[in-house]
Amino acid sequence: MTIPNFSPLPTDFSSFQLDRVPADPQLLAWNAADELLLARLNDAQEQRDILIVNDSFGALAVALGKQVLGWWQDSAMARQALLANCPRNNCPIPTLIDSADQLPSTISCVAMQIPKSTALFEWQLSHLAQRLSPDGKLYALGMVKHLSEGHQKVMQRWFGHVNPGRAVKKARCVELAEPVAATPPQAQTYRTSQGVQLICEPGCFSAQRPDPGALAFLACFNQLPAVDRVLDLGCGNGILALSYLTQFSQARAIGIDESAQAIASAFASASANQLEDRLTLYHNNSVRELGLSDVPLVLCNPPFHQDTSLTDTIAEQMIQDAANALASNGEFWMVGNRHLNYHQRLTRYFNDVTVRSAHPKFVVISARGVKHQRAL
Ligand code: SAM
Repeated sequence: MTIPNFSPLPTDFSSFQLDRVPADPQLLAWNAADELLLARLNDAQEQRDILIVNDSFGALAVALGKQVLGWWQDSAMARQALLANCPRNNCPIPTLIDSADQLPSTISCVAMQIPKSTALFEWQLSHLAQRLSPDGKLYALGMVKHLSEGHQKVMQRWFGHVNPGRAVKKARCVELAEPVAATPPQAQTYRTSQGVQLICEPGCFSAQRPDPGALAFLACFNQLPAVDRVLDLGCGNGILALSYLTQFSQARAIGIDESAQAIASAFASASANQLEDRLTLYHNNSVRELGLSDVPLVLCNPPFHQDTSLTDTIAEQMIQDAANALASNGEFWMVGNRHLNYHQRLTRYFNDVTVRSAHPKFVVISARGVKHQRAL
């Protein structure tokens, strides 16, 4: 059946100019699951406005153009990619949704890339299930190798109708309908041995217990310099910044994370420890465009993946950005897996690099004496 006034969507992304953040010309800014969605929407002659969720670099927003109801993402890097890719392709920038509270009250069609974190997936699905109209449909997209049993269970918990469809080019477009009423997942909480309480919203890094790398870092905190301003780059639930503030009562801290759920967690953790007046938080891609300078101390436990992809590009970007934001006598302290050889990397940016801990799996390193500083 042909529906009058249905204008077919593009069938692939080859006619668009789409870049990733961080830039990587070797990798595409979309995947086979995005392509499969376009085929499904064309088959269904879908004309309803579509809420896009977890679009990593804005490719779906560009392809769906005016049919986009809103664009919901946890990631500040994805938002940065969208804001660059839309104008580049003469596409309107969709309504940006930063938190579950801003979702429209009724939604009839959703296209959602399935995130690696099942906790984030479940939390997002719970909010979408509450708002999906009775005849609404949610297309959940992912590469077969990234879809776990956990993801399947979450879909079955929140939707009565789960149709995985046929896999094409190792991608799936699972159709979900008939939302189920159930209690959304809640934040988790724990304490460090120093008594700092951490609140972790679903999807925040190390939601159930402290990261072993962070613990190795905390074990070296007695070696840190006392400064009045500290930056926690990639702050997660705020464990490093809040531990520093607890140890040094005159200090103030800045926390930056690209995940909205991490920033919400750090905010809740700061309040739980009555430290909210001393911690300023930014949902941002590293320190770019925040205009930070003359920072006396940066702490960092960098990521080594971006959703499902392993990468060292982000850690490299963080080291470079920290070097640019530091005061001339400032110090950069980081923890990392020993095998990632951060020591060598740091010597490219700093004159004086010192290993501070002999933990068998993690290495804590301090660096000072920036070699070449550039304005951010
Ligand atoms: N500092 C916390 C800890 O020690 O438990 C979290 C460390 S976790 C290894 C890395 C954190 O960096 C994650 O919370 C992640 O969301 C964040 N992140 C990843 N890429 C980022 C970026 N480009 N800018 C800011 N934060 C980023």
